[in-house]
Amino acid sequence: MNELDSEIMIGQLEKRGLRKIEEEEDADLLIFNTCSIRDLAERKVMGKLGQLGRCKTKRSVIGVTGCMANAKKDSLFRKLPHIDFVLGTNNISNLNQVLDEVLETGRQTIKTDDAFEENLDYLIAKREDPVKAYVSIIRGCDKFCTYCVVPYTRGQEVSRSPESIIEECKLLVQKGYKEITLLGQNVNSYGKDRREWSTLFHDLLYQLDKISGLERVRFMTSHPVDITTELMHAIRDLPSVCEFVHFPIQAGSNRILKKMHRIYTKELYLEKVAQLREIVPDVSLGTDIIVGFPTETEEEFQETFDVFEQIRYSVAFIFAYSARKGTPAFRWKDDIPEEVKNERLQRLLTLHSTICTEERNALLGTEVEVLVERRAREEKHLIKGRTRCWKNVVFTGDDAMIGTLQRIKVHSFSHQTLIGDLVTSCERPSSLCVVS
Ligand code: SF4
Repeated sequence: MNELDSEIMIGQLEKRGLRKIEEEEDADLLIFNTCSIRDLAERKVMGKLGQLGRCKTKRSVIGVTGCMANAKKDSLFRKLPHIDFVLGTNNISNLNQVLDEVLETGRQTIKTDDAFEENLDYLIAKREDPVKAYVSIIRGCDKFCTYCVVPYTRGQEVSRSPESIIEECKLLVQKGYKEITLLGQNVNSYGKDRREWSTLFHDLLYQLDKISGLERVRFMTSHPVDITTELMHAIRDLPSVCEFVHFPIQAGSNRILKKMHRIYTKELYLEKVAQLREIVPDVSLGTDIIVGFPTETEEEFQETFDVFEQIRYSVAFIFAYSARKGTPAFRWKDDIPEEVKNERLQRLLTLHSTICTEERNALLGTEVEVLVERRAREEKHLIKGRTRCWKNVVFTGDDAMIGTLQRIKVHSFSHQTLIGDLVTSCERPSSLCVVS
């Protein structure tokens, strides 16, 4: 979401004649589009902004946007008197207006209200990737997990109209995009705030699947409670929808899940995964996990470990807990020593690495469908793409293949990346391409 917001801001600035450059020292305008999800991300931005303030000559207009802008508001001006504007996550459509105000008055300017969504011109986004695009469908979150700052920084759930989403997706396909990732803090809540549209998340997927030339649809992220049977059927039945679901469990102990306010039990979660695997047998799963949540015992961590081993996630974002100011959990004692958190983190990372290696071994000799994205950065004779289940693949190919679907026979792998040989191009229309 943060990346998409940057693309939208760059598009707006290009419209007024500005140009993105690589060297910070040469910039007339510096924007820090911040993320607040982790304390470390915030500290890095504050450090960098502080460093800019210590420069003797201030040459650039400096703005802070994103979640930190929403969370810290005008207190940022007190801590960083050299910054010029603060713009909240729901106000990026006001970027040029705020910039004009700063340039005309020379005064520090802030806009962090809830004017939103309907005002946002998504079509202006300046996308760098020529094959894959992010499309926002819902912003905000109503779940209020006790460790998470998102409901306070991004606000409540606001769905974007299906007409506007479909129009943007059609335009992207006309421009040559092949894969769209639907974005939201909880995409599965889509449409629940606007019952009059009669379009829930799975309905939206059925509508998007009709767009000719749209090869792949992905979505992130999901809350397990909102993953419905209808959604599972859509994943099974719609050729464009990839068989990969980010299904974040966060913890395997019911006591910790309750303390996190995740509103499901381990048993309910496992039932949903079993149902999904029955309906979509070849589905791959991703997860987010927090280890060392306040009061987590060794036995409770072991429950998380056991669930991980049972489910065998293909993709996992595993973090040691760090308290976020402004969340309910911040009031609780962060009582798990760092070395214990790190030891639990390492155990899960090792397990994940073993599972990934076994998964990749099982793919040796098989054929996979790859959407080619770009030339590999390191070895220029190779080109790179992803399978429908989000695995990286490289093979020898040429630039003409970028943006096409190819069938690749996997012969080896290195770390996380599968290496293979081209079998044949997938026939168009690719939605008829069958890969076993
Ligand atoms: S569902 Fe996700 S975004 Fe919403 S509060 Fe929980 S962790 Fe944060």
